[in-house]
Amino acid sequence: MLKIYNTLGKQLEEFKPIHPGKVTIYMCGPTVYGLLHVGNFRGPVFFNLVRNWMEHLGYHVDYALNFTDVDDKIMMKAKETNQAPGEVSEVYIEEYKKDFASLGLRKHDRNPKVTDYMPQIVSFISDLVDKKKAYATTGAEPGLNDVNFSISEFKDYGKLSGRKPEELQSGVRIEVNEKKKNPLDFALWKSAKSGEISWPSPWGPGRPGWHIECSAMIKAMFGDQIDIHAGGLDLMFPHHENEIAQSEACSGGKFSNYWMHWNMIQFGGAKMSKSLGNIVSMRDFLKDHHAEVYKWMMLAPHYRSTADFTDDTIYQAVSGLARVYSSIALAESVFLQVNETDFKMDAKYHAELQVAWTAIETALNDDFGTPAAFAAMFDLIRKFNSQFRRGMKVTPELAGKAFQFFEFIKKFGSFLSLFQEYPTKFLIELDDQLLLKLGHKRTDVDQLVQERAKVREAKDFAKADEYRKKLTEMKINVSDLPTGSFWEVMK
Ligand SMILES: [Zn+2]
Repeated sequence: MLKIYNTLGKQLEEFKPIHPGKVTIYMCGPTVYGLLHVGNFRGPVFFNLVRNWMEHLGYHVDYALNFTDVDDKIMMKAKETNQAPGEVSEVYIEEYKKDFASLGLRKHDRNPKVTDYMPQIVSFISDLVDKKKAYATTGAEPGLNDVNFSISEFKDYGKLSGRKPEELQSGVRIEVNEKKKNPLDFALWKSAKSGEISWPSPWGPGRPGWHIECSAMIKAMFGDQIDIHAGGLDLMFPHHENEIAQSEACSGGKFSNYWMHWNMIQFGGAKMSKSLGNIVSMRDFLKDHHAEVYKWMMLAPHYRSTADFTDDTIYQAVSGLARVYSSIALAESVFLQVNETDFKMDAKYHAELQVAWTAIETALNDDFGTPAAFAAMFDLIRKFNSQFRRGMKVTPELAGKAFQFFEFIKKFGSFLSLFQEYPTKFLIELDDQLLLKLGHKRTDVDQLVQERAKVREAKDFAKADEYRKKLTEMKINVSDLPTGSFWEVMK
C-alpha cells in the first residue's frame, strides 16, 4: 500500500487512483529562456523514481511536464537577441531536453507547450467569465481588455497553502490597482502592449497569465481531475493555489487528488539567487561531476527535506556512490571467475535479499522514503563486504551469491536511475575524485603499490608491511590477487 504526503490536507494518505490501475501526473515545468539550473531538476529526478515505482506497483502512469513558452522573460530575451520569442523558447526547450538526457532520466509521456494550447486556454477563460468567476477590465489600450479571476467567487481560496485572503490582504503590501475588484485577484488574460506577441481572444489580442496555462492544459489532456499534481514548494503559493481556484471554479469538482511538493535546494543554507551569484546551471555541474552524483544528491535526502549543495555534500555523494560501486565491482570480480551456467544460487541468501527488498518496499511505499531505502541497501552492502574479499577462492556457491547481490543492487538502482555504470570503470572515476579530496595522486599510489609488490616478490615481508602501513595511512586498501595487486580508496 502506497502512502503519499498530500500537501492538500497536510497529512500522509493512502494513494487511491481515480481510475483503477491508472495514474495521471502533472508537473509544472520550466519557463524556457536560458539554461536551467541544478534546482530545476530535483523534481524530474524525484518523479522519475515516483513513476518507476508506481509502475512497479502495477499502475499505468501518464506523466506530463509542461514548457512555459509565453512569458515576459522570454520576450525580454527575444528583444535582446533580436529573435522571435518562439525561437528563444525552442532553443531552450532543446537545451532542457539535452540536460534531461544527460541525467539519464526517462522521457515524459507528454511535454505540452503553452503556445500549442491557446484555443483551449481562451475557452477556459471564457467559461470562467460566463460563470461569473472572472471579469474583464480595461487593458493597455481602448478596445483591449484584461481578464482577472475573482477570488471572492471561490470560497475555498487558500485551502492548499493555508493562506486566507483576509490575512493576505492585511499582512502584505499589495499593489493598488483600481481595476481589480479585490487586490488579490490575478490575471487570466493580459492585453497586448504595442509590439508584443499576441493571440486573438474575445477580449482583444493578448496572452494568457501564467496560472491559467496549467489549469487549461491539464483539462485538455486529462479532463477536470488528475491524480497527482507536482511542483516545487516555492510554487505552492500563489501558483498552485490559483490553479485550484481556476479549475475548481470552472468544473465545480475536485481538481487534483494529491499535491506533492518537493523542497528546495540550498547552497550552504542559503537560497539560490541571482544576487548571491550562486546559481549553477545543470550543464556546468555536469561538466565537473557525473550525473549519478547529482541524482544521489537529490535522492539520498527525503524529497520533502532541503537538499544542500556544498563541497561537502558533493563529496558525500561521491563517497556514497563509491561505496556502492566498490561492492558491486567486488561482486563482479567474484562471479566473473565462474561460468554463469555453473552459478549455484543460495536459497538462504535469496531469503535474506527478500527481507532487504521488503525493507526497501516499505520505505518507498511510505511517501517515497529514500533515506530508509538507502539505509536498507547499505545494511546489505556491509554484510556482503564482510563476507567477500578480492582474491578469495571462488566456489560456484560464492559466485552465485555474489551474482544475486549484484542483481539486487542493480534492480534497486534501476528505480532511481543509479548504479547503471560499468562498476570497475566507474569506481576508478569515483576513486579519482576521492583521491583529489585526500590530496593524493593516482600515479603516486600506483608507484607505492608497485614498490610493495616488488619487495613482496623478494619475500621481504617486513618491508612490504611498512608499505601497507603507509598506504593504509593514505586511506588506500590493497588486495593481493594472483593477477597482481589491486588497490582502491577505503570507503
Ligand atoms: Zn503550474
